[in-house]
Amino acid sequence: MIDLRSDTVTQPTAGMRKAMMEAPVGDDVFGDDPTVNRLQAISAERAGKEAGLFLPTGTQSNLAGLMAHCERGDEYIVGQNAHTYKYEGGGAAVLGSIQPQPLANAADGTIPLDLVAAAIKPDDTHFAKTRLLALENTIGGKVLPASYVAEATSFAKSKGLATHLDGARIWNVMVASNASLADLCGGFDTVSMCFSKGMGAPVGSVLVGSKELIKRAARWRKTLGGGMRQAGVLAAACLYALDHHLTRLRTDHENAEKLAKGLGEIPALKITSQSTNMVFVAVPEKDCAPLATFLKERGILTLMSPNLRLVTHGDMTVADIDTAIAAFKAYFK
Ligand SMILES: *Cc1c(COP(=O)(O)O)cnc(C)c1O
Repeated sequence: MIDLRSDTVTQPTAGMRKAMMEAPVGDDVFGDDPTVNRLQAISAERAGKEAGLFLPTGTQSNLAGLMAHCERGDEYIVGQNAHTYKYEGGGAAVLGSIQPQPLANAADGTIPLDLVAAAIKPDDTHFAKTRLLALENTIGGKVLPASYVAEATSFAKSKGLATHLDGARIWNVMVASNASLADLCGGFDTVSMCFSKGMGAPVGSVLVGSKELIKRAARWRKTLGGGMRQAGVLAAACLYALDHHLTRLRTDHENAEKLAKGLGEIPALKITSQSTNMVFVAVPEKDCAPLATFLKERGILTLMSPNLRLVTHGDMTVADIDTAIAAFKAYFK
């Protein structure tokens, strides 16, 4: 199978499974797991933050982060297309009693700062208290312009807002822009990073920030059911990914570029964007269902839609990309 649905489908490699098997462990709810502690410390250090917290998923990591910043009745400003707002079951509102203030993302994934400024509520009993600005990088595979991140985070600070980054794919940003993790996280109070996407771990995210914020997030993690016991088995996979899978992401980006180029030669298709490990393709509505079936019969899995997202990852070779391109071409011939 050539699985283009997501980079979450990656299987743990043999080396990763071995590292998991050999990991020293303890009860992490008591803070006793040496492998979790090591992952938290290394993640924090590389991100230039005081502390880190290991959580089972990116959804919980974002939510614990938002809840560390915001009280009941506070508000966070977030992009209309942001994962935190759109794809996490409304957790901030449902479980955190935090009101989202979604704003339209520009085509490059940024939230225009004039919109942010206009959305900040005055201190008035009519309004929720605007507490936080949340950004996402990459967003739809796109790397946020570094100048925008610098401007947005300093603007938020000047308005007394805290800042959170959903950096589920921050690793792809590092590789695409040759930036250090500390540079990319610098302006943010908290950053959530996923190991279960292109990094190839079976599960796991780390939230980084100040000691005080991480202490608050750890409390919410327990409340949200994310306190795990011998979690070092999982943290070992994340540590292994940091050492062995990070620079490999470059290949995913090259494969996505190759895929976009190949599919771009098909007149019926239009490449709407290609950045890092994602390709977005406009597919004629009438072709969606038959194309999906045609591809599936040839061992190619997609989440077919008129705005098709194709994602490259480590369980895919250059030859697989050629096979996929050839299959699309065969359908449209
Ligand atoms: C995958 C993802 C998350 C977290 O997803 P989980 O499946 O809960 O780990 C958060 N933000 C973005 C942008 C993501 O792609």
